[in-house]
Amino acid sequence: MMNDSSTTIQSLRDMMVTFVAERQWHKYHTPRNLAASVAVEAGELLELFQWLTPEEAQSRIKGDAAFRVAVGEEMVDVIMYLMSLANAMNLDVSSAVEAKMEKNRRKYPPEKFQGHYERPLPGAGGG
Ligand SMILES: [Mg+2]
Repeated sequence: MMNDSSTTIQSLRDMMVTFVAERQWHKYHTPRNLAASVAVEAGELLELFQWLTPEEAQSRIKGDAAFRVAVGEEMVDVIMYLMSLANAMNLDVSSAVEAKMEKNRRKYPPEKFQGHYERPLPGAGGG
């Protein structure tokens, strides 16, 4: 059984390498197609919440097992397309996370953004 404590990003990437190779789908798994697929699957994730009030969404997340499964499946679609995009780009996800989170920490210093958010002015960096 896989779980987050013992599963590495590399093992998720390897899972996608195998999945794509077994189907000879390399020709489809181009960076452009994968970026589009991330957006499509993110749309499917959002669709599950379409028209729900924040309270309804919270209630279904807590108490509707089938809904939780459906949300988890769309999250996995997004995550695994991102893993395949990392493979297609030969991008090290962990070092990219480290660099981007450092950028985010500088962009949103806690002493300035504690408990509230305001959009930084254009040109402030990040995105
Ligand atoms: Mg999907």
